[in-house]
Amino acid sequence: METFFVTLASGSLLISWFATPHLTSISLPKPCDAQARYDIVAAQNAKTIETAELTPFGRKETGWQIYAPQVGETIGTACAPDTRRFAANLSRWQSRNRLPATGAVDPATLTAMKVTWQRSRPFIAAFTEGCPEAASEDDLVDIGPREGWQGKQTQLHRDALANLRRMVAAARAADPRIARDKQMLTIVSAFRSPEYDAAACATRNCNGIAKARCSAHRTGTAVDLYVGAAPGQSPVSSDDENRLFQTRTPTYRWLVKNAAKYGFVNYVFEPWHWEWVGPDQQMPIPKPQKPPVFAEIFSQYSR
Ligand SMILES: [Zn+2]
Repeated sequence: METFFVTLASGSLLISWFATPHLTSISLPKPCDAQARYDIVAAQNAKTIETAELTPFGRKETGWQIYAPQVGETIGTACAPDTRRFAANLSRWQSRNRLPATGAVDPATLTAMKVTWQRSRPFIAAFTEGCPEAASEDDLVDIGPREGWQGKQTQLHRDALANLRRMVAAARAADPRIARDKQMLTIVSAFRSPEYDAAACATRNCNGIAKARCSAHRTGTAVDLYVGAAPGQSPVSSDDENRLFQTRTPTYRWLVKNAAKYGFVNYVFEPWHWEWVGPDQQMPIPKPQKPPVFAEIFSQYSR
């Protein structure tokens, strides 16, 4: 933020804005259209955001609009993805991450950023030793009667719930559009025991082996939040149409900017899925089960 200090004085007469104080501070935001040399690449980003063929999480996708809020947060700008400032900040991030500093969102950049995002999830790091054990019952508490989506009852790790409550209260206080919808930020799913997931997967589609054998929800610190849903879609539908709708909501945008203050990180492929990792990014993950071979599961989560 550039700040200019303006002091107006004339002889013994001190001239000032509104009489006092005589020192006036004018703050100007960094314009999003500064950095003219990024003009061409900004135009390129404006195009690829809707048209690029990408597979950041192992599934073919068109464009990168879904990831734009998290990309902006990662490179430290609130400017729109088609601006010069966005390209300039991305270029700096690419340089720091030993990528060609073009300022263009390309497959290599999105993959590198995905790795950064996934590394912030201790649950993923824990896979190197196997699937974390399920949470102890002693650590789990019931959510309140109005905290579940459509009245759902479930359990969460006590520290995760305490911090979730702080976060939801802050979100509602910060933005009336979030507060207006009473379902917003209610809990769609929280603790799920391995037995529950296995049984659910035996009777219906469960999105593959990862959820069946080792879901983050077993830790009691993962929570699926209602962040809106596209018309006719489940709030946890991974259809691109639904994910795009969700990433455009004020709720998701607020979470991207603020959830880390409350110890929550996002599985970026799923706008609804947040994991509490504690104040020092130390998720209380129980020791893994042994001796497992979880390469297949790990590849599903980290692809
Ligand atoms: Zn989830």
